Amino acid sequence: MLPPPTVDYPGWKEWSGRSLEADHRHRDRWLLEQAMSTLAQRERWPGHCALCDRGVEFSLAARDGEADFREEMCCPGCGLNARVRAGLHLLLAGLPEGGRVYITEQASRPFVWLQSRGVAVIGSEFTTDPERIAELGKMLNGPLGGHGEIRFEDVTRLGMEDASLDAVASFDVLEHVPDYRAALAEFARVLKPGGRLVLTAPFIAAHEATLVRARIDGDGIDHLLEPEYHGDPVAGGILCFFHFGWDLLDEARAAGFTDARMVLPWAPGLGYCGALWTLVATR
Ligand SMILES: [Zn+2]
Repeated sequence: MLPPPTVDYPGWKEWSGRSLEADHRHRDRWLLEQAMSTLAQRERWPGHCALCDRGVEFSLAARDGEADFREEMCCPGCGLNARVRAGLHLLLAGLPEGGRVYITEQASRPFVWLQSRGVAVIGSEFTTDPERIAELGKMLNGPLGGHGEIRFEDVTRLGMEDASLDAVASFDVLEHVPDYRAALAEFARVLKPGGRLVLTAPFIAAHEATLVRARIDGDGIDHLLEPEYHGDPVAGGILCFFHFGWDLLDEARAAGFTDARMVLPWAPGLGYCGALWTLVATR
């Protein structure tokens, strides 16, 4: 699989000091997205799903005249939204034949999609509650169409051996991990040299520094901003601790990655538009 077209930035300096030409390109993309938002009244965007490798009509409902290019653009074939399709596309394009992958979710469409593609994939969930594990197991082996037992992992203390994996994928999980630096260090530890981390999380390109929304304070949680909860099909809302800024790249390098960049996949024909910022870091 060829990698998706992307615009890459290694850091805040390059992003904030981008050229006038880059700014024009940025504006042109934005103008096209505005036009697409208008078209979205029709609620469909014809394109090609790179994961399904066929022509499809992506869902593109607009709310208040703005299309949500990140959580929408769902493919009717794989059932995945733009954020996850672009993430898996980046992941697979750099995966060696027979490569081993860890994904920080298991009772989920991305895990099942990797499983259905014959990828040697390990997934996990962050729960030891037997009732929840049973529920998640039923979902995985039932409606999701996957197979296997639910595995527990704490991303800040992974059970995998050093340098045992070719890729780690994490889609909108890191913002829920209070000690996200420990998670990055663990992702680096379990990856082989040259292995890659492909990670999405709320990212504010206009922010050099990560916005801390909440932090652990003794036994409780100190809310620095209005609590923000993200949906979870089983557990209900999960507290979001961070909206990341460009310093996420510095943290990734400090965690042991040799190269880290924010990558912006952009290809309307593949249903990749808007701010699909993805962290791609190489061990
Ligand atoms: Zn698809």
